[in-house]
Amino acid sequence: MASASTVKTWIGRPFSGGVHPEDFKSLTNKQVAKIPYFQPDKVYLPLLLSNGILLKPLVNVGQEVKKGQLLAIGISNSQPPLHSPVNGIVETIAPYIAHHPSKARLDTIHIKCFKDQTWSSKFKSRSVVGLSSSEVIQYIQEAGIVGLGGAGFPTSMKAHFAKQANVDTLVINGGECEPYITCDDLVMRLHCNEVIAGIRLLMVATGAKRAIVGIENNKLESYELMRSAASDDDNIAIELVPTLYPMGSERHLIKTLTGKTVPTGKLSTDIGIVVNNIATARAVYHAVRYSRPLVTRVITVSGLGIESPRNVEIPLGTRVKDLIGYCGGLKMDCERLIFGGPMMGQVISDLDIPITKTVNALLALTSEEIGSDEQQDCIRCGQCVRACPMGLMPFKMRAASESSDYDLVERLGINQCLSCGACSYICPSRVPLVQFFQHAKGILTQRRMSSMRQEKAKKLAEMKTIRLAKEAEAKKAAKAAKKRKRSRRTNSKPMVEVDV
Ligand code: SF4
Ligand code: SF4
Repeated sequence: MASASTVKTWIGRPFSGGVHPEDFKSLTNKQVAKIPYFQPDKVYLPLLLSNGILLKPLVNVGQEVKKGQLLAIGISNSQPPLHSPVNGIVETIAPYIAHHPSKARLDTIHIKCFKDQTWSSKFKSRSVVGLSSSEVIQYIQEAGIVGLGGAGFPTSMKAHFAKQANVDTLVINGGECEPYITCDDLVMRLHCNEVIAGIRLLMVATGAKRAIVGIENNKLESYELMRSAASDDDNIAIELVPTLYPMGSERHLIKTLTGKTVPTGKLSTDIGIVVNNIATARAVYHAVRYSRPLVTRVITVSGLGIESPRNVEIPLGTRVKDLIGYCGGLKMDCERLIFGGPMMGQVISDLDIPITKTVNALLALTSEEIGSDEQQDCIRCGQCVRACPMGLMPFKMRAASESSDYDLVERLGINQCLSCGACSYICPSRVPLVQFFQHAKGILTQRRMSSMRQEKAKKLAEMKTIRLAKEAEAKKAAKAAKKRKRSRRTNSKPMVEVDV
């Protein structure tokens, strides 16, 4: 176990802003020998990716499916395919509730699960020695892996872009800075060797020469185990970073670990860095080493509103209500259910919603944990400004947003806002700052889309005018050529001699 003398200590903050919310990690970070697995009776798999793209089903109603079998695909390799998380039978393919802002019912594959959930022998282990970048990327793509930290970007695409951008550093996000969430911590403690093996494969895929894993200094056991697992590899560094929200933000973790700043409007690959998270690295190992697609995930179920908070591995498509039942049910004083952490998570409106690849936590919060919703007037105390990790002026952005002055909101830098919620958390007047920013971002996105549409329509109209002018010109030229030809023919006719 790390002691105070062996761990790196930080003097001051690695970046400006940030907050220290109560972490509630002790609810679920107890020592366990094995991550428990929950097998529901049925799973529900929406045919929609997190970027809004629809998938085409490859199975029929009544068909038996095997765990890991391909169920649905997109129209290109950039869209991660969907695999069966269970051995079972397709009961129906029909609209079903999904976790989607529109609350729409989406086409969903409903599978009744069999008792036997062993992997078929079709999924064989393979050697990972000597694989090329394109081979690893292909295996990741075929396995349907997306960023499991919540963003959901296809991992194969990320690795492909990183390789093209010639990145030299792979940063692995072991921060897990949101309160309550401990699933990555548990994965590092119980499966550090698989995570390190996955990191090595991601280095091959992206072409990165070195990897740095950043772990918050409230997870000393994970830090020690990961250090030991990587001790024979000089190219992988395991670093402790201060426990400070939002350390898990890509740009803040990069700044803390490398001292480099990702310029505004640029990507981390522009400065030679690509970021992935702990669970994603482990999924990559399973995909490449055992040819197993991404069909399960470890999720934290926590909060004072649930009977038995714990980390659990579930097949994708497990419904919220089934998982809650497995964790002992909700307590009487549970007020709110959230997917993700309390700072950036999203409220769940229906217990039937199935859990998808990007959901790392299900929280059941009581009114005591949520705190008062009673909003008061802004007292211009400036605490939100001090808390903002992006150096923004949240109270000014809120005022501009409230008066619908979206040009000013934009000038104040809303596009740099991470929606991290640090400002809302610290505000003594409980001003719902992030809600205002999300609304303003929606309006600005609509405005951008509409001006892009107008620009496109203008370009199309210009192109049409040019095309019509060219066609008229061509017609005129053809007519003139015809006329010239006819007159040449007339002039060259032989003189007819007339007998008199
Ligand atoms: S923290 Fe709240 S009360 Fe203070 S300036 Fe910001 S919005 Fe106003
Ligand atoms: S939500 Fe936006 S404005 Fe508020 S602290 Fe985070 S980055 Fe700053």
